[in-house]
Amino acid sequence: MDYKELADLIFPNAKEISYYEELYPERNLSEGAKVTRFAPSPTGFVHIGSLFVSLIDKKLAKQSNGTFLLRVEDTDQKREVEGGVQGILDALKDFGLQVDEGVVSEKEEIGKYGPYLQSKRKEIYQAYAKDLISKGLAYPCFCTAEEIEEKRLTQENAKIRPGYYGVWAKCRNLGIDNMVEKINNGEKYIIRLKSPGREDKKIKHHDLIRGNIEFPENDQDIVIIKADGLPTYHFAHAIDDHLMKVTHVIRGDEWISSVPLHIQLFQVLGFKPPKYAHIAPLMKEEDGGKRKISKRKDPEAAVSYYHKEGIPEDAVTEYLLNIANSNFEEWRRANPEKSTDEFELALNKMGVSGALFDIVKLLDVSKNVISKYSKEKIYEDSLKWAKAYDAELKTVLENDKDYAIRILGIERGIEKPRKDIAKLSDIKYSMEYMYDDIFDKQSNYEFQKVSDEKEIKQILEKYVENYFDISDDKQMWFDKMKDLAEELGYAREVKLFKKEPEQYKGHIGDISMVLRVVITKRQNTPDLYEIMQILGKEKVQKRINNYLNK
Ligand code: GLU
Repeated sequence: MDYKELADLIFPNAKEISYYEELYPERNLSEGAKVTRFAPSPTGFVHIGSLFVSLIDKKLAKQSNGTFLLRVEDTDQKREVEGGVQGILDALKDFGLQVDEGVVSEKEEIGKYGPYLQSKRKEIYQAYAKDLISKGLAYPCFCTAEEIEEKRLTQENAKIRPGYYGVWAKCRNLGIDNMVEKINNGEKYIIRLKSPGREDKKIKHHDLIRGNIEFPENDQDIVIIKADGLPTYHFAHAIDDHLMKVTHVIRGDEWISSVPLHIQLFQVLGFKPPKYAHIAPLMKEEDGGKRKISKRKDPEAAVSYYHKEGIPEDAVTEYLLNIANSNFEEWRRANPEKSTDEFELALNKMGVSGALFDIVKLLDVSKNVISKYSKEKIYEDSLKWAKAYDAELKTVLENDKDYAIRILGIERGIEKPRKDIAKLSDIKYSMEYMYDDIFDKQSNYEFQKVSDEKEIKQILEKYVENYFDISDDKQMWFDKMKDLAEELGYAREVKLFKKEPEQYKGHIGDISMVLRVVITKRQNTPDLYEIMQILGKEKVQKRINNYLNK
């Protein structure tokens, strides 16, 4: 028997690889166009780090008129979760990272280089595995799990490098006849690569982020096809990225140590390797040190978190670009109004060590992004969010749309808009006091400097008596507040008070605080004049009376 017959025995139905090589021709792309892919496993959890990588994938493809594709790596069926694919699709869609090609729904895909679900590519991997076997470059291995474990312990005890290689690769030298006999006897097996590498030799690799790296060659006879007939990640990655004509593999740097193996696989398979860029993980500050953002410990690790909290996707994108390329900040300063789509991302400007992902900074970015929204946009976005997460807010927004839009328009659409809203889940709190039914139920008034009840009542009475006129414009209102202050022995202006504090009971700010607390039960609100205008005469009057009569 020869290798070819062995290969036929193992994969009798597999096609010639020339069939697939012809089926997937070179892409017709312009010079320099990049083909990138996001290749997640459908584990039901999309990590913010994966979103970071996809954002980079998408940008590089788009900037170069290339293609960004989604391939789902579902060959590890133990890790698969129902709805996992949908979760990935939702995350990409939410962040505007629509793919040009690949999986687009649980059941559909687009593009000529599919299937894009690895579990549907079984026969393709087997064809290539068969080809390697027929050339003596891969072989069946009959070692049981117990044998492998035994080997591992022996190596560990003897302090020998672990793995299936060299003299430890027992089945490598079984001989074709023995292999055939075992197969015919029904023994279980997997397929291993017959690694041509030597540990004492070096390979050079150029990573687009980390630069030149030298590694020892791979000499491990790694598994390429598992007992269930599906490929391992390593084997599938090489075949898929080759057949899908991926030019740039951008992935987490936990894969960097696999580079020697991957390059070897490309060589053994006769493929041209893609370019690699290994992205350092997003980090979090903790106890003065840094650690990876963790799915277990940090809610912000889940992409779904941003959706649930109503942190706008454009804010997350903005922040991620900020930590991806240090020149982003400068670009943003020069182009405050431009869409992040226009920012040109460069891989060689990415840091080699893990960037700090600080949720507090992200929320600051988010406050800025939201501050630029029109009142209509923030209304629509809040409503959409509320429909998913907050029935009460939804009702409030829908019951009187115009009123809600007016509230949301307070200090918006101006040169210095309000910046107190970081997420749509803050909206409810920011509007509550504008609704009597909620306002009336709210607990007590908490005043600041002026807290004596008699004094407060006097301020209110005087205000209503001599100064309250809802039709006043802002300037007039403000002038009247000053007059009121003066009449009651407070300074008209803070600076007057600061000059001679002993001359006054307080200043204009203390007076407006009283009014603010009575009308909103809050010490911090946006512009009180605007609030009063929207509430209207009757509500303002009622709120003041409520206090006076309490
Ligand atoms: N399925 C692999 C992962 O989720 C893909 C890595 C890659 O991008 O090649 O880690």
